[in-house]
Amino acid sequence: MAAPHALKALADEVGPALTTDPAALAAYRTDRSGWTTDEVPLAAVRARDTADVQATMRIASEHGLPVVPRGAGTGLAGGAVGTAGSIVVDVARMDRVLEIHAADELAVVQPGVVTDDLAAALAPHGLWWPPDPASRAISTVGGNIATNAGGLLCAKYGVTRESVLGLAVVLADGTLIRTGHRTVKGVTGYDLTALLIGSEGTLGIVVEATLKLRRRSTDPVVTIGAGFPTVVDAAGAAAAITASGLRPAALELLDAASCAAIDAYLADVPDMPSLAGRGAFLLVQTDGPAALAESRAALALIEAAGGVAELAPDEAAGERLLQVRRSAHPAYARLGEVLIEDVAVPRTRLPAMFAAIERISATYGLPIPTVAHAGDGNLHPNLVIPPGLPHEPGTYPDVVWAAAEELFRTAIELGGTLTGEHGVGVLKRRWLEDELGPEVTALSRRIKAAFDPQGILNPGKVFLAS
Ligand SMILES: Cc1cc2nc3c(=O)[nH]c(=O)nc-3n(C[C@H](O)[C@H](O)[C@H](O)COP(=O)(O)OP(=O)(O)OC[C@H]3O[C@@H](n4cnc5c(N)ncnc54)[C@H](O)[C@@H]3O)c2cc1C
Repeated sequence: MAAPHALKALADEVGPALTTDPAALAAYRTDRSGWTTDEVPLAAVRARDTADVQATMRIASEHGLPVVPRGAGTGLAGGAVGTAGSIVVDVARMDRVLEIHAADELAVVQPGVVTDDLAAALAPHGLWWPPDPASRAISTVGGNIATNAGGLLCAKYGVTRESVLGLAVVLADGTLIRTGHRTVKGVTGYDLTALLIGSEGTLGIVVEATLKLRRRSTDPVVTIGAGFPTVVDAAGAAAAITASGLRPAALELLDAASCAAIDAYLADVPDMPSLAGRGAFLLVQTDGPAALAESRAALALIEAAGGVAELAPDEAAGERLLQVRRSAHPAYARLGEVLIEDVAVPRTRLPAMFAAIERISATYGLPIPTVAHAGDGNLHPNLVIPPGLPHEPGTYPDVVWAAAEELFRTAIELGGTLTGEHGVGVLKRRWLEDELGPEVTALSRRIKAAFDPQGILNPGKVFLAS
């Protein structure tokens, strides 16, 4: 009887923010990973403000009901998927930029602000927020924080954790806490802000964030596009660039299958550089006052590694090269259904990881076009499900998981990690303990229990049921 009483209490407290409309709830059964559950959430609260989130958590904890926090649902790990009998707390409508303080280089925002909308609000102040996931036109800042999102620029400017000063978070029982500070420095107490970032909605719901900003540079950026005979050569060049101490703003690597897919996808778009026939493509962008000198040093390293490189003649041509890179996801989508993976390895091990991907692709008979944020060793192998291979819609066939598992094990053996930026969610929880080990997994569960003693916040995400 918990559910009807809870729904009545929610209707009284949050009124029109509550929905139990089956069509609205159906949209919460999947995210952009494509993984879809046949479970049905009990209800969704499209929160308008912090009070709605607090009321929902208070009622959920009184009735012992699970809650699934959700931003824009662009996640690639199933973390925001509404599970059986849960209340989805959708914060996308909490989308206001509350404050921009140019002199202190910070902004205070609600969690539902779309990442690109924040960029547009900051630009007139000559400021920017570094996290730049490829999904930035559709993802929310709250989702970026909950997944500790990365992107093209994070090798130089850091992942989301490096750009957040403080949070306001609603805990499982509805209590509102504030963590962190508005100062550049601050070490009072445990760093709960850092702990909450990347916790994938399992410890609390972010309702406000104080973000650390940067000043927009007026120096021109310099962009290089380089072709290579093989992806292992290109990975060697990328590793040589970072090993030399150079810090390009972007260092992105596409393998031969990615080059072919993007070339086909952009065939009808005028003025786009062609990647046809490349064994691999490396994009390097340098910025700041030393951009030109750094790009020349990178050019020399590329040529020494067997690459044929060209400097983009102007910023517009450089932007077109970045657009080529950003076309990777839609280009893969045209190959069929894909499982988008997300391992990371130490940068010197990139050639070994690319060689392993080629081997795994051949062993399992699966195309695995791969793009890498080579500047930080983060690879996205895209496992393409061959057309006609039987599998339930919204799931991945066993052979795809077998190949993915070998990718994960290889990355860990090379000193890397299961996920560089997309998170564990549902899809990687089976392998969590393989990387963390039993002691750290047990400690993590105790931390979860301290925040959420009833285990109602995003249950079944990150951890397997104990
Ligand atoms: C085309 C494409 C490209 C992408 N490229 C990148 C990339 O370059 N880098 C990258 O890191 N990711 C990338 N992603 C993945 C995704 O966009 C990011 O993980 C993003 O940060 C998720 O934001 P969201 O608002 O959609 O969150 P959701 O998908 O709604 O949620 C993601 C997780 O965060 C939790 N959550 C959401 N909001 C809150 C909140 N306010 N409080 C507590 N928990 C919350 C959810 O429970 C869930 O576990 C890409 C996705 C797509 C579809």
